[in-house]
Amino acid sequence: MRRISVFGSTGSIGENTLNLLTPGSVQVVALTGGGQVDRLAAQARRFDAEIAVTAYPECYAALKDALSGTRTQVAAGADAVAEAADRQADWVMSAIVGAAGLVPGMRALAQGGTLALANKESLVTAGPVLMASAARHGATILPVDSEHSAVFQALTGEDPAGVERVILTASGGPFRTWSAERMAAATPAEAVAHPTWAMGQRISVDSASMFNKALELIETREFFGFDPDRIEVIVHPQSIVHALVGFRDGGMMAHLGPADMRHAIGYALNWPRRDHVPVARLNLAELGQLTFEAPDEARFPALRLARAVMEVRGLSGAVFNAAKEVALDHFLAGGVGFADMAAIVDVMLDRLSGEMRRDNTLLTLEDVVAMDHLARRTTEYTVRHRHWQR
Ligand code: NAD
Ligand code: MG
Repeated sequence: MRRISVFGSTGSIGENTLNLLTPGSVQVVALTGGGQVDRLAAQARRFDAEIAVTAYPECYAALKDALSGTRTQVAAGADAVAEAADRQADWVMSAIVGAAGLVPGMRALAQGGTLALANKESLVTAGPVLMASAARHGATILPVDSEHSAVFQALTGEDPAGVERVILTASGGPFRTWSAERMAAATPAEAVAHPTWAMGQRISVDSASMFNKALELIETREFFGFDPDRIEVIVHPQSIVHALVGFRDGGMMAHLGPADMRHAIGYALNWPRRDHVPVARLNLAELGQLTFEAPDEARFPALRLARAVMEVRGLSGAVFNAAKEVALDHFLAGGVGFADMAAIVDVMLDRLSGEMRRDNTLLTLEDVVAMDHLARRTTEYTVRHRHWQR
């Protein structure tokens, strides 16, 4: 039986992943979550998981209690999450949100199986390390971000030398038509109200600021290896076309589908075959029209900042992501405004620019983790003293 682990199983991607699995037809190895103990325990019971891990040590007793009488082992803490990735599995879903997903993903790659990668932060912070590790261990990384799955599908059977450009679509988020002034005063509740996709809270805010698309630009650069000037973003409010690949002969391949992550997850699950996935089928006549517009980098500076990271590479992605995560925490807590998030990341890229440049081939996981910690501490300090307001 196929052995499957899901990291971040209690989240939006995690639940969609389990939704595609049938208990008894796969062996679920590890399921991991954070504070949603009841949900994690219910999942572990349903799939008779070998181990359930909560990232929070204070949740250990509650999880242990909720799984009493089952065969499922229980563990807690960040180290236990990483150790769960050492358990042999054929297919591992990496769906923890944020840089916390990096180490478990790296550990899973060392087994040489398939890593379905939803955690885009892994590629943003440690792209060269991750890709080298996959090559070294003979592991396969399959992108689960909808745009990257779309590009991957459009590239299947194609010679990369024939590719001229890759175009990622962006919904534009809830603030697509808002003025800069109105956006600056946006609340967390307004920012999480995504028009087309149902996602976790953090990625929803990142979509509103287009930090999500910024991360995806970097993710594209790192995963597919295309030069930054070949990677574009187009705003497409209907979220039906997920990405396009343009070839040297002027033709373009577009990937279309409903805004339902189970397609990209199912593709990674069934790859290289295609199998039935229970997503709605598109009715193009009913949709009537698909529209496209250029992104506005003045209102969405995250896109411009991503361009800088794509050029520098090295440890700049780790700085970009850590600063963004800390700024997002403060936005959600009400301490900084919506537009301040990009301003903070901008200042942090500037402040740590001397330490970011590295030979990508020599980059290590330890370098990335150390820079992640340094950038978090520096960003916390910067926010606390409001030093980004120059
Ligand atoms: P979510 O917030 O719904 O779930 C996150 C999961 O990670 C939960 O299981 C949570 O318990 C766990 N988690 C959070 N902090 C943790 C920590 N410090 N240590 C260990 N576990 C922790 O997030 P999501 O929307 O499912 O997104 C997951 C990942 O997939 C993100 O990297 C996101 O960018 C990416 N992604 C999501 C979507 C989507 O539609 N939701 C689409 C593309 C990519
Ligand atoms: Mg995406």
